[in-house]
Amino acid sequence: IAAASALVLALAGCSGDRTGGSTDEGSTEGAIVGVSMPTQQSERWIADGDNVKASLEDLGYKVDLQFANDDIPTQVSQIENMITSGAKALIIASIDGTTLTDVLQQAADNEIPVIAYDRLINGTENVDYYTTFDNYKVGVQQATSLLTGLGILDESGAETGAAGPFNVELFGGSPDDNNATFFWNGAIDTLQPFMDSGVIVVPSGQVSFEQAAILRWLPETAQKRMENLLTVIGDTKLDGVLSPYDGLSIGIISALTSGGYSADALPVITGQDAEVGSVKSIIAGEQYSTIFKDTRLLGAQAVKMVDAVLNGDEPEVNDTETYDNTVKVVPSYLLESTIVTVDNYESVLVDGGYYTADDLK
Ligand code: BGC
Repeated sequence: IAAASALVLALAGCSGDRTGGSTDEGSTEGAIVGVSMPTQQSERWIADGDNVKASLEDLGYKVDLQFANDDIPTQVSQIENMITSGAKALIIASIDGTTLTDVLQQAADNEIPVIAYDRLINGTENVDYYTTFDNYKVGVQQATSLLTGLGILDESGAETGAAGPFNVELFGGSPDDNNATFFWNGAIDTLQPFMDSGVIVVPSGQVSFEQAAILRWLPETAQKRMENLLTVIGDTKLDGVLSPYDGLSIGIISALTSGGYSADALPVITGQDAEVGSVKSIIAGEQYSTIFKDTRLLGAQAVKMVDAVLNGDEPEVNDTETYDNTVKVVPSYLLESTIVTVDNYESVLVDGGYYTADDLK
């Protein structure tokens, strides 16, 4: 019977195997989707790539997944290869949001829809949809957890009246990543009233994004900057460090411990991405907080968008105002992120199935 039905399917020109079939007219089965991720240096992007690939394959797509080693020409040529090898759609997390204009023109010339993944692609009309987290809110959450860790806010978010002054240094993300200024603005808007009233002091005086930014989110650059800051501020003891990404927090912690802070008396240090090493650091009482962004949900959203576009449907969006890439406002779907500390990592990350308890040992 199996052989007979295979024969019937073959005669009808269909494939019984969703993943193995060629693209029929009007069908997306077996269509290739190119997935371009920035780097494998950070766990989150590996998880993003794996999640997107698996979900696309579940729907019968073929996937060309590439990581660009944080090198812009590599990302451009990987995307070019996807286009020439027949990709029907592209999902792209850019390294530098402004460097893909030419290659995305090639995509448009070939009628290939483009979904910006996590990071907005700037300066081109050839980006169709965007899915990400509410990046401004991520920054608000980072600053809020810093304020809570310092005791300026209580668990309910109410001001405790703590007068400080608390010494805090500020770090920003990569200036070529559109998200970085969203994180920064969300954080600074939250901290500014406390900086204005003198409850928070930035001893180095380095309070602009340009001074605080860490190109390409490199942990070693953050470590260097932290070492320099320690030299600049001399004997002043730090109470907190705003860090926008777990990888930077690791570099910052190294600089602090080699600079004389003991591991059990570090300042309140924030982060982002809930990477395994940093969650372990939170459990060990070194890093204070991270922001969990569920890459499973982001991957699923990107895949839903691709599937809708390729089937001629309108993808669902929930924001059509925020993400102006200088040429157009890109219709977006924003997801929610969660502050994680030692108090809730088990319920959020382990009970939520993102990590097993063993992963965090
Ligand atoms: C992402 C963050 C990540 C950072 C560094 C940003 O674009 O939104 O989740 O921490 O890049 O990889």
